[in-house]
Amino acid sequence: MNAPVKPGITELSDGALARLLEAQPAFRRVQIRHAVYHGVAQTFADISTLPRALRTDLAARLRFSTLIERRTEVSQDGTRKILFHTADGAALEAVQMPGERGPDTTACISSQAGCAMGCTFCATGAVGLTRSLTAAEIVDQFLHLRRSSDPRHTPHRVVFMGMGEPLANLQHVHGAIEALVDPDRVGLGARRVTVSTVGLPVGIEAMAGWGWPLGLAISLHAPLDDLRAELVPPARRISIASLMAASLVYQERTGRRAEGSFYSGNWFVQKCATGGGILVGGQVIALSNLPAGAAPEAVSQDVITQMILLYCGAITVLGCIAAYWLGRFPIDRAQHEARVAALDATARADVDAAVTPP
Ligand code: SF4
Repeated sequence: MNAPVKPGITELSDGALARLLEAQPAFRRVQIRHAVYHGVAQTFADISTLPRALRTDLAARLRFSTLIERRTEVSQDGTRKILFHTADGAALEAVQMPGERGPDTTACISSQAGCAMGCTFCATGAVGLTRSLTAAEIVDQFLHLRRSSDPRHTPHRVVFMGMGEPLANLQHVHGAIEALVDPDRVGLGARRVTVSTVGLPVGIEAMAGWGWPLGLAISLHAPLDDLRAELVPPARRISIASLMAASLVYQERTGRRAEGSFYSGNWFVQKCATGGGILVGGQVIALSNLPAGAAPEAVSQDVITQMILLYCGAITVLGCIAAYWLGRFPIDRAQHEARVAALDATARADVDAAVTPP
């Protein structure tokens, strides 16, 4: 018979850890928490601040991590991808992505082993869902990346963009974020944590009630429901309008605006380019700055991204200018109504003149 799996130390609440260490002075708990959440030790035996007997006792009762590293791949730009197994053999991946400066390094972590959403472009979606991860299994991905990283590129950001749909595992994702933003545990700022979702309005509204100003990224992929449904099966029953409504609730409650992401500029242009324009938010954006005769396949994602950013930037700047001038010269309503009435009278006189025979 297999031995029962020991609990992971990140699965223990503060109270449970205190009970486990009741024979020890209180400062030992602080030392252990610090070693687990901020140290570079990879096992209890490595925590040199603890007496040897206590290290042995902890190792006999607990697992240092709920995850077992199976394989690591490092690409030329320094991106590190780690395949983990859980105690019951579920496979998941976490990726460390270096930024241009040290503090930009991001840990991309999984919320589930596999995924049930079935996005057509995604290898994880093709495999299906094994199971949702526990909060400890999610946090341990980040801790493992941080402990094993080059100190110049320690991750300071987390994105839930690995395997799985975070909002289909709300309870454990909430527990993991609680640990990530808790100053006594991982201690990241909530603004450094982003949840990426395929777009589940109920989950977005639940997130709005968590009380943290987390980043929210919605995988839109296309600006029209039927096009979106070609890539993202849940879009067959969840409209973009309902996602926009949920993201507005999110913005109102947290002060953070959701970001939309697109899978592929090429696919997007192939599907949406009509008469030299693409439709975004009900507006056609001209593609006149594309090279003459460029086929949709030749359009890079950068071009689309830049156009969308330019468009959004222009709207924002115009909005700010309008808000500034409206604030500077508040409308005198009586004067405004008098002017409208005068214009109305002039227009009516013009119409009368036009239809009255000479
Ligand atoms: S939600 Fe994410 S992980 Fe799941 S199938 Fe879609 S892209 Fe893949």
